[in-house]
Amino acid sequence: GAFDQMGIKDDLLRGIYGFGFEKPSAIQQRAVLPIITGRDVIAQAQSGTGKTSMISLTVCQIVDTAVREVQALILSPTRELASQTERVLLAIGDYLNIQVHACIGGKSIGEDIRRLDYGVHVVSGTPGRVCDMIKRRTLRTRAIKLLVLDEADEMLSRGFKDQIYDVYRYLPPELQVVLISATLPHEILEMTSKFMTEPVRILV
Ligand code: AMP
Repeated sequence: GAFDQMGIKDDLLRGIYGFGFEKPSAIQQRAVLPIITGRDVIAQAQSGTGKTSMISLTVCQIVDTAVREVQALILSPTRELASQTERVLLAIGDYLNIQVHACIGGKSIGEDIRRLDYGVHVVSGTPGRVCDMIKRRTLRTRAIKLLVLDEADEMLSRGFKDQIYDVYRYLPPELQVVLISATLPHEILEMTSKFMTEPVRILV
C-alpha cells in the first residue's frame, strides 16, 4: 500500500511527502498499520531499513497535540540515535506542531526540567536519563500510551536492562509497546512477554 492508504492524517501525510518520501519502505509497509491501529509490535530490523522514519511517523499519528502531556516515550541505546529520532520526528511532523524533547545524558538537567515543565508530547531519550527524570517526577508518565524500544538488543548490551524495567514500572497499565531489534536473544523475548500483549511479529 501507499502512505495515503494507511489512514494517516492529512497534516502528517504532507510532512512525509515534504520530507521526500514517496513510498513506504518494507518495514513501513508492514509495521505502520498494526502500530497505528493499536497493536503491540515486535519488528526484527537493522538500521537503514527506514525504522527511524517508521517510529517517527507512527508516533506522530498516535499523539494528540491538543493534549499537552507526554504521550509517547521512545528509548534508544545512544544519545546520537535518540537525537536523530527527535530530528526525523520534527521534520515529518512539521505540520503538526508537535513538541519533542531529547532526554539524553550529557545535556543539562536544567534544560530537561525547563522543557518538560513547558510541556512536550514526545520524549526521545536514553534509558538512564529518562529513568532519572521519571524518578524526579519531572517527566510525568500518566498520559503515556506508547512505549517504543528502539535497538532493544543494543540497549541490553549496553547494560540498560534494569533501567528499562524501572521505566516500564512507572508507565500506565494500558500501554502499547513497540520493540525494534536486529536480534531477538532470550532476554529480549523475556522482555516482550512481560511488556506486550499478543504482539504482531515482523521480520524485515
Ligand atoms: P531510517 O532507518 O528511518 O533512518 O532510514 C534510513 C534512510 O532511508 C534515511 O536516509 C531515510 O531518510 C531513508 N528513508 C526511510 N524511509 C524512506 C522512504 N519511505 N522513502 C525514501 N527514503 C526513506
